[in-house]
Amino acid sequence: MAKITKPKFNFTWFYIVAGCVLLSIYMFGGENTNQVKEVKYSDFRDYIAKGYIEDITVNEKGEAEAFLKKDSAAYVFPAERIDALSRQMIVTTIGSADNFDNYIFEMKQPDENGKVRFDGTLTYRKDEGFLSNFLWSVGPFILIIIFWMFIMRRMSGGAGGQGGVFNVGKSQAKLFDKSNSTQAITFKDVAGQEGAKQEVKEIVDFLKNPKIYTELGGKIPKGALLVGPPGTGKTLLAKAVAGEANVPFFSMSGSDFVEMFVGVGASRVRDLFRQAKEKAPCIVFIDEIDAVGRARGKNPSMGGNDERESTLNQLLTEMDGFGTNSGIIVIAATNRADILDKALLRAGRFDRQIHVDLPDLNERKAIFGVHMRPLKLDPTVDVDLLSRQTPGFSGADIANVCNEAALIAARQHKKAIGKQDFLDAIDRIIGGLEKKTKVLTQKEKEAIAIHEAGHATISWFLEHANPLIKVTIVPRGRALGAAWYMPEERQITTKEQMLDEMCAILGGRAAEETVIGQISTGAMNDLERVTKQAYAMVAYAGMSEKLSNLCYYNNQEYSFNRPYSEKTAEAIDSEVHKMITEQYERAKALLSEHREGHAELAKILVEKEVIFAEDVEKIFGKRPWASRSEEIFESNTAAPAAEETPEEPAAPAGNDTAVTPANE
Ligand code: ADP
Ligand code: ZN
Repeated sequence: MAKITKPKFNFTWFYIVAGCVLLSIYMFGGENTNQVKEVKYSDFRDYIAKGYIEDITVNEKGEAEAFLKKDSAAYVFPAERIDALSRQMIVTTIGSADNFDNYIFEMKQPDENGKVRFDGTLTYRKDEGFLSNFLWSVGPFILIIIFWMFIMRRMSGGAGGQGGVFNVGKSQAKLFDKSNSTQAITFKDVAGQEGAKQEVKEIVDFLKNPKIYTELGGKIPKGALLVGPPGTGKTLLAKAVAGEANVPFFSMSGSDFVEMFVGVGASRVRDLFRQAKEKAPCIVFIDEIDAVGRARGKNPSMGGNDERESTLNQLLTEMDGFGTNSGIIVIAATNRADILDKALLRAGRFDRQIHVDLPDLNERKAIFGVHMRPLKLDPTVDVDLLSRQTPGFSGADIANVCNEAALIAARQHKKAIGKQDFLDAIDRIIGGLEKKTKVLTQKEKEAIAIHEAGHATISWFLEHANPLIKVTIVPRGRALGAAWYMPEERQITTKEQMLDEMCAILGGRAAEETVIGQISTGAMNDLERVTKQAYAMVAYAGMSEKLSNLCYYNNQEYSFNRPYSEKTAEAIDSEVHKMITEQYERAKALLSEHREGHAELAKILVEKEVIFAEDVEKIFGKRPWASRSEEIFESNTAAPAAEETPEEPAAPAGNDTAVTPANE
């Protein structure tokens, strides 16, 4: 890791020196070494007549300054105030230069005693005091302007220099490349995350052989977004991409862009991309992009964070600015893709979303494998057991466990790390985690498994429900468990399809009620979606009996008038209630019909934490309705439907809200 600075003419010193010079002139320059006394014109003439005066200078403003002779100073200044090191002078304003001239001429003539009263010189100086006057009047402004320019230069990140407040506009990105990283990270260091790895492998290919793609007219992607909870290896994955492609890697956190000063964020973005362009092909990694990429305020009068918005705008500009073939690929990481500004996710920017989830049982095993490689273990260590003991742990947590276990063993002066050391480490980490991460108890795990198995069972037996791809009980974002479905592509949705989907979504809650006999907040998200969908069906699509063929859709967003009567509102409510109750009963009936299969499914889910369509097929047999998505199914690269299409009411999936959604 090294700061990237280029040797460059450094303006900082120029400014500092200029400022010091001005200051010193201001403070010590000019007449300050002289002792000056202002006197009346009549006294001035008097002093000349008495012969105290050595030389006189008259400036264009009609001010006369005169140095006193050394031995005469005491007549003018109080004796105790005379400074022997400086010269004493008097100043006055003369009325008319002509008169003064004549007077001096007179004084130069010998008097009645033959004594010349003024034998010094008289100088008229046009530019008298010009420089110092100028500096006195303009100097402060110059200082202010220079200071201002200096600040602006810093802001725009123009000049070099290292560290300190002089560098607020610099990007502060960390650069990792061949010269400064001891060992490149490769995909071998990333355990599990096969799906994500598969997707980023493409990026590696782009970086390695851009020609293959560009020759065919293809465009290389500019950005990819890694979405997942903290510690799941997003940074690691981005580094591995750089390591595999053997290109430099710039790393920066979104929060680094956000500073107190206005304009700093934007200039840091500019600086980052300037550096990246110099090193292209390369990878720019922006961690926590939500710090800058949060959706911009919709209502300008509410006031927003202008600084963040200008930073975001700059980022968008930069991403649009470099060509697709320039070899810079921006990889960003976040754990909340839903709060990002839509503009960031548009084509040509971060149009690829790659999900990096918490590891399941087998993945945890693999991660333990990676982090145990450098450790000295004794034969009691059982990786299987450890992986089963750590549901909900992220890759970083597991790395932590391994390290902690080594420390515990070292404290006891052991030769090798044993099983108990690992178990103690896990306990310790769980203690520290409890508040941060969701670590599931066995009971919770079972409850979630029953819930998710409910979704899976019902969708298996309903003709129109979307085919299932995968179900997990690994916590995922705000959700505890999730099910993935392959949404069928369709432009219109029939009532039967919508009702089947509704039934499948209600399957989670239905399973809780019929099997556990206790319902939980785990189904809140399901219920919300079902309710919204039912209202849409009744009020907008005219799909209920009582209000058939009526659409009360009102596209005026802020209209407070409902386009229907109070009575209709009641009818809508009761129709919605009826519709949901019917589907709920249907779900319960289906579940009791397939009780054994459901229980078995839940059991496998607790054990393996993920199940795929194949597992469900083994239990229930082939799905009676072969769907046209079946082929895509095999390839196993489908994206989770639930999160990708939040606006689309027809995309069902059991994505369950956490027990305490209020935290969000
Ligand atoms: P994120 O960027 O997602 O917050 P990091 O990539 O910084 O997480 O991961 C932190 C550390 O956790 C890594 O340095 C690595 O040691 C460990 N880690 C996380 N995920 C994995 C994984 N899949 N395989 C191996 N180690 C991992
Ligand atoms: Zn659910």
